[in-house]
Formats: sequence, C-alpha cells, structure tokens
Amino acid sequence: PPENMTEALVCIDHLLWNTRLIRKQVGETPRIMGIVKANAYGHNVHKVSAALETIGITDFGVANIHEAIELKTGGALKNPASILAFSSPLTSHIECFLQHDIDMTLCDSETLQAAEEIAAAHNKTLSVQLKVDTGMGRLGTHPSMAMELLRCMENAEHLQLKGIYTHFADSSSPGGFTAQQLAEFKRLTSEYEHAVSRTVCKHAANSGAILTAPGSWLDMVRPGILLYGYHPAKHTPLRLEVKPVMQVEAKVIFIKTVEAGTTLSYNRTWSAPTLRSIATIAAGYADGYARVLSGKATVMINGKPYPQVGTVTMDQIMVDLGTEHDVKKGDRATLFGWDGPSAEALSEIAGTISYETLCSVSSRVKRIFI
Ligand code: PLP
Repeated sequence: PPENMTEALVCIDHLLWNTRLIRKQVGETPRIMGIVKANAYGHNVHKVSAALETIGITDFGVANIHEAIELKTGGALKNPASILAFSSPLTSHIECFLQHDIDMTLCDSETLQAAEEIAAAHNKTLSVQLKVDTGMGRLGTHPSMAMELLRCMENAEHLQLKGIYTHFADSSSPGGFTAQQLAEFKRLTSEYEHAVSRTVCKHAANSGAILTAPGSWLDMVRPGILLYGYHPAKHTPLRLEVKPVMQVEAKVIFIKTVEAGTTLSYNRTWSAPTLRSIATIAAGYADGYARVLSGKATVMINGKPYPQVGTVTMDQIMVDLGTEHDVKKGDRATLFGWDGPSAEALSEIAGTISYETLCSVSSRVKRIFI
C-alpha cells in the first residue's frame, strides 16, 4: 500500500498510564467503566478496549446498540463483565440486546413492558440498568417515577436489574448542582435498596466528577476524556498528570517560495508580507482539522512551531516556513498531540472542546498504534 500521508498515532502506554492515574485517584473500591463510545473518542474502540482489559477493566460504556454490537462481536475483548449502551433504546432494538447480551438502559415504563414481553417470548433474561435524570435533562426517568419503575422491574420475571445510574451536567465546576444531583440520586437509590433489602451497582461519576466530587464515586466511575489524556474543562481545580493518547501527524507534500504579495488558498485571506517559503501539508477539514482554525493555529515540524496560513481546505493546509528553514518534503507535521499543540489548545482556538477535536479525526486518517 502507498505510504500514509496523514496518521493518528495512538499511544497505548499513555492510555494505560492515564487509567492507572484514575485508579490511584479513586482508590481500589469503585469499578472503572471504560467509556469507549464514538469509537473510543476516535482512538479505535477495539484497541482501546483490549488494552483496558489487560489492566483489569471489564466494564465498558458505549453510546448505543450499534456500538455495543460492534464491540461485542469485534473479537477484541476476551471476557467483558458488561457492555452498557447509554442511549434509550427503540423497541426494535430490544431483541438485539438479548441476542448479544448487552446491558440496556431503561428510562420509561413503555420500554420496560416491551422488554419484559420480548424477553419472555424468547425465554431469556435481559440485563437492564435504570437511568435516572437528576438534572442533565437528556435521558432517564424523572426521579419521582423511578421507584414505580423499579417496582415494575421487581415484578418483571425476565428483566435483571444490573445497575442504577445518572449523569452529571456540570461536574467540572465544583459547586452546588453536582451535589444536588448526587443527593437526589443517593436518596432514591437508598430508598430502593432499603425496600428490597439488597444493594445494586450505583454509578454516576464522569471525568469531571472523578476530579471534583469524591462522594459521587459510589460503586463504579465512568471516565471518558481522562482516559484519553485530557481534562473535561480548563478550570477543574485538580489536574492529573494525564498524557494525550492521540497525536495527529501529516506529511509535508510540497514546498514553494512565494513573492511578497502572493495570496494563498480560497478567498485569498492571506498574502505573503515578504518573500516566503510555504509548505503544503496533507490534512484538511475532511481529516478533522476544523476550517475555523484557518489562519489561527500552529503546527509543529521538526520540533519548531509554524503558523498555519490561509483558509483550511478539504485535504490540505498551508504553513508559513518564513525565510530560513530546514523543512523538507516528506517531513512530518504534528497538528496536535504530545509533541505539538494539545487537542485542548487547538480546541480553544476553534471554540470547542478536546472531545470534539478527538472525535472529529475522520476515518480516512489511519490509526497507528504505538
Ligand atoms: N457517562 C456517560 C453516560 C456519558 O455520556 C459520558 C460521556 O459523555 C461519560 C460517562 C464520560 O464522560 P467524560 O468523557 O466527561 O468522562
């Protein structure tokens, strides 16, 4: 095959390092669910999950049934304890949850009834986890309905309650709202545990809560972005020494010298102030390098920063090498990662968050696992 021009290096050592830091932070008690939705935030769900499994992570969280089946049938995992799909399922999905033994998120009584009927018809038991909306406002039963749903679940012979969970809206900011969500969640889960005289796996903490709310760690924590080497926000008071797991690199494919006044790229937004060397690099917005970065970001080549100039195009960007430089065709430019600007820094320029920058690295960028 032809040599790659654009690659995302994925450093498994950094992933394991970050996971161990999270383990140190939360201690030995809570289980850690590896959040590997959206192809493990763009890093490759199979490689990431397999690596996490080698250090004892056996619970995985994905967005929906499609991602769950992809992970379950992909062959990377040896013996997962659970794969939980966070989305509220369509009724047509229920059979797939049964067939592949995926934990189904339950948010409402219609789905509960349908699930019990379908599981009964197959004479199988469906694993479910109740999602309670304590303030995120996205998915989950209203807390006032939760006890009723739990009672129905107790009576449903073909449903097994594997967990109860909630999700925080603002856990990166230490403050009242997370505490309020947590208090509501704990009140409800203790009422249930008291009523049935047994405990159930309770979980709530995303990366933000791992950093700011020890009381929310409960039986399991659900880190996503911290695994991949970034903090959920710039302002979290506690910073772990996490390392970026992804580095996106693209080759210098063309170098030219331009006269003062020469304009570059679409809409001619940049013109050379003096005689300049310009490198063209094999990555553009179709690779995930956002067009809003046009003229604002920096790339690293051979350890030196160079400004990106002109409009970002679909497949290429241009950088200003200045007048004297040692850059050659075929050299690698780092767009973001451990050598270059961080995904966080780049995201700030683009007006977004590291999550989106990581998830935006498109499938045409070859992942290389190192
Ligand atoms: N839990 C749920 C239900 C989520 O949707 C997510 C991701 O948004 C996470 C955990 C992980 O979040 P983070 O990447 O902020 O740790």
